[in-house]
Amino acid sequence: MNTKYTRGSFQLMKSINRAMILNMIRVDGPISRADIAKNTQLTPPTVSNIVKELIDTEFVVETTQGKSKGGRKPTLLAINANRFYILGVDVGRYKLNMVVTNLYGEIQQTFEVPIKERPNQDDIINTMKEGIHQVFDPADLPQKKFIGIGIGMHGIVDTENGISLFAPSFHLHNIPIKEHLEKEFNMIVKVENDARTMTLGESWFGNGNDADNIVGVNVGHGIGAGLMIKGQLFHGENSLAGEIGHVTIDLSGPKCTCGNYGCLQTLAAGPAIAERAIKELKAGKPSLVRDIVNGQLEKIDGAVVYEAAKQGDEFCIDLLNQTGRYLGIGLTNLIHTLNPKRIIIGGGVAKAEEFLMKGIEETILSRGLTAHAKETPIVRSKLGDHASAIGACVLILEEFFSR
Ligand SMILES: [Zn+2]
Repeated sequence: MNTKYTRGSFQLMKSINRAMILNMIRVDGPISRADIAKNTQLTPPTVSNIVKELIDTEFVVETTQGKSKGGRKPTLLAINANRFYILGVDVGRYKLNMVVTNLYGEIQQTFEVPIKERPNQDDIINTMKEGIHQVFDPADLPQKKFIGIGIGMHGIVDTENGISLFAPSFHLHNIPIKEHLEKEFNMIVKVENDARTMTLGESWFGNGNDADNIVGVNVGHGIGAGLMIKGQLFHGENSLAGEIGHVTIDLSGPKCTCGNYGCLQTLAAGPAIAERAIKELKAGKPSLVRDIVNGQLEKIDGAVVYEAAKQGDEFCIDLLNQTGRYLGIGLTNLIHTLNPKRIIIGGGVAKAEEFLMKGIEETILSRGLTAHAKETPIVRSKLGDHASAIGACVLILEEFFSR
């Protein structure tokens, strides 16, 4: 293993000037040393020294592929994108979704690893260790090429110490993920809430690239939001910021796993959609869903409802439209609290966008306080199923490339 080298490179990048130059090469490259000096206002010798280090550590390569302004082609600098890889892990309720990206955040390979039912703390840690070991492969993906591992974990995360403080889907507290994985793999590990990594991924490589103030809302088994304010993820005092799944939408609504009634996620998350469908079908509503699950109503989940809606089932279309209205109330609350440029929705439920959006937009239009509030764009995640995992890679990238 050559991990000492990796850690050394990481320390090296801690310099702000280096990170700034590296990011300029990433965004504007291929670019000449002279243009870097001009754009950063650093002196040419400073730029030359830093560039030399970046070339020595193989993060940057010289190329002559740039446009010549007549005469000899200038020597330009480009990111050595495939020299290093990053592993991003999205820890869901049932599986780990893992992606390997290069330094441009481009996916090289993806992996899925199931998580056993009712895992204890050791199960979670061991599943992660085993899953990550399976990714590293001496031929294609040697461990020494990896500069770090980013983890997007559902629930409340202490990002500073890399601890999952509360993972509601597993009913587990205080899982020291960073400590275990750094010891096992001897490289940087960063841990963040999955809705925040999704937002970070969209901010770097997706639908949030042009905006400083965005909100990413992850709608799956639960609902969480990543709040990006002035280009920075906002955590609040105790990492609770963005727990919009537990804002109250209906005082007399269904009981939530948190103990309260009528939380947003009891009305609009995947399990809530399934529960409402089952309840109404038991009361005799006609629907295609019965055929899809062969009469076994307990097999209904959000994906089944979406499938039936796509086949034109009125009951499911109405159900998703109603879900969109509930989401619209939650999003209006976010708009009035944070006034983002745009809200990006991702997660499994967001796949039913075509049936949700009408309810979302009508609700925001009728409830928004001002014309700007009413017109806040709501868009689907560009990075889709891998948004949280790619965003987890960005946790590592942002250590190297200062924006
Ligand atoms: Zn709740």
